[in-house]
Amino acid sequence: MKSADELRSLLHSVDGKGYKAYKDIRGCYRFDSFTLCIDHVQGDPFASPSRLHVEVAPEAAAFPEWTYKSRSREIAARDYLTRRFDAAARRIAAGNRGTGKGGLIEIDRPGQEVLERTSAFLSSRGVEIRFFCGLPAFGRRIAGRHAVEMLLEEVPAIVAEAGFFSALDRDALREHVETAEDADTLRSSLEQRGLVAFVADGSVLPRRSGIDQRPMKADAAVPFESPQSLRVEFELPNRGRVSGLGVRSGVTLIVGGGYHGKSTLLAAIERGVYNHIPKDGRELVVSDPSTFTIRAEDGRRIEKTSITPFISGLPGGRDTDTFESEDASGSTSQAANIIEALEVGAKTLLIDEDTSATNFMIRDHRMQELIHDTDEPITPFIDKVRQIHEELGVSTILVLGGSGDYFDVADCVIAMREYRPEEVTDEARRVASKLQTERLTEGGDAFGSIVPRSPAPESIDPRKGKRDVKLKAQGVNSLGFGAHMVDLSAVSQLVDPSQTRAVAHAMVYVGRAADGRRSLSELVAEVETVMEENGLDGLTGTPHADLAAFRGLELAAALNRLRTLRVKQRK
Ligand code: ADP
Ligand code: MG
Repeated sequence: MKSADELRSLLHSVDGKGYKAYKDIRGCYRFDSFTLCIDHVQGDPFASPSRLHVEVAPEAAAFPEWTYKSRSREIAARDYLTRRFDAAARRIAAGNRGTGKGGLIEIDRPGQEVLERTSAFLSSRGVEIRFFCGLPAFGRRIAGRHAVEMLLEEVPAIVAEAGFFSALDRDALREHVETAEDADTLRSSLEQRGLVAFVADGSVLPRRSGIDQRPMKADAAVPFESPQSLRVEFELPNRGRVSGLGVRSGVTLIVGGGYHGKSTLLAAIERGVYNHIPKDGRELVVSDPSTFTIRAEDGRRIEKTSITPFISGLPGGRDTDTFESEDASGSTSQAANIIEALEVGAKTLLIDEDTSATNFMIRDHRMQELIHDTDEPITPFIDKVRQIHEELGVSTILVLGGSGDYFDVADCVIAMREYRPEEVTDEARRVASKLQTERLTEGGDAFGSIVPRSPAPESIDPRKGKRDVKLKAQGVNSLGFGAHMVDLSAVSQLVDPSQTRAVAHAMVYVGRAADGRRSLSELVAEVETVMEENGLDGLTGTPHADLAAFRGLELAAALNRLRTLRVKQRK
């Protein structure tokens, strides 16, 4: 292996040459306490920055086993290293050298969630950190001396702060891994306790703003306090005993006046499928890992989905067993979103009235009198929610301030008053028996069937122009897949652009694994298995530096929103 000094001379020798000469620096170099590898060199100063990684040998990194001994700890420790590298890079990298992205030293930046990422790895085999550098130039001429400063001074200084146990704040690292381990323990204990979600007492649920996921400032936020009747306790490996609200399986309503914190509670539960960093406020808010948020999404495409459980007898005899639409309505999109989630194994559904189609949620008695059942294609959710629980074992948590008709179908009713939950199930029952709605039940004898669908491989096509694979994530919500854009803005449990990028790679994988017979749920399960066994590198085959783990539910959601997707329904 070449030495750091050789890299220095190489950089001096290409100084002033055309940008392409940077290709000569590819390869690995031995530094005092780590190895630096330049894996991919950008084509010009404006292109995506170059990709590098460092490896620190286990004896040098010297991480004790407690930092990575369980999967929870390992992922959290890797997340911690990424954050330390990010903080050091912001402080140390001089940035802005010459043209384009020259001078940039950057690592994938995590948010409030602790996700498995390809930015950092930690095990008994040592540390690997992957990051990006904008190799500096003036115009198209290599700025060799600036490159020397970046790669031989700044990068080692950053690595010194992030790649060695001795350089880290060990209490902070311990808190990071223990918090993640506690959350994972909680989440995996929910089912045996008959729960679908848990919100610890003292949690801070509200966020700083609609575009800022950090917690609301402590002086403004009312900490969460569970009602006595729904309080449960858990014994956690690190924090010990914790108490909080246990949301049981079944149908749970969250009611209350406007602005009393209903949606905030539901949003915290929605994010409870992920672990959070210490001091997020939601570290001990967890939900069933297959929890999926359902909303109306008019305009989306639907590919051959049986939405008959919710919608049948459309005008003009339009088929609902193999329903297709390029521009679905609020109610048909919400129905399809539920059916598609059930198809790939969602066991808990979250629905907020704020983002639902009213005619999908409820049809009251007066409307039933005026518009007869036979003239209304929609079977409202209220008439299906119990079947979903009893026949399919799928729970629902609903935020509803506007319709008491749901009292008849709820197992538990929680009222939010000034951000404090109270259980009002008995009162709701009393109200329901005093004021009978007399609405007719329209749900029929059974929920109906979920028909598996098999994607056609050629319909998942990542090609664009001369490129075999062209993927481009734009933020979290938008994805260029081949020649097409996929709108993911309604897939609210995608929370990080690196997840969106990873989902794009997984779509490529599914396109290759599909054979016209294997079902979407089988294909998605295979992706989950590959990720579990071989990580995200196993999915892409080549190392990437900016991918984060996602769930099969989000992958399926992305495929279902790909406008070229074609499926065959299995009978
Ligand atoms: P709802 O859905 O009941 O109308 P929201 O959940 O949207 O209410 O909350 C309304 C406002 O109150 C939001 O701005 C939210 O940030 C804030 N909020 C929610 N929970 C709390 C809390 N525990 N402490 C302080 N503010 C909160
Ligand atoms: Mg609301």
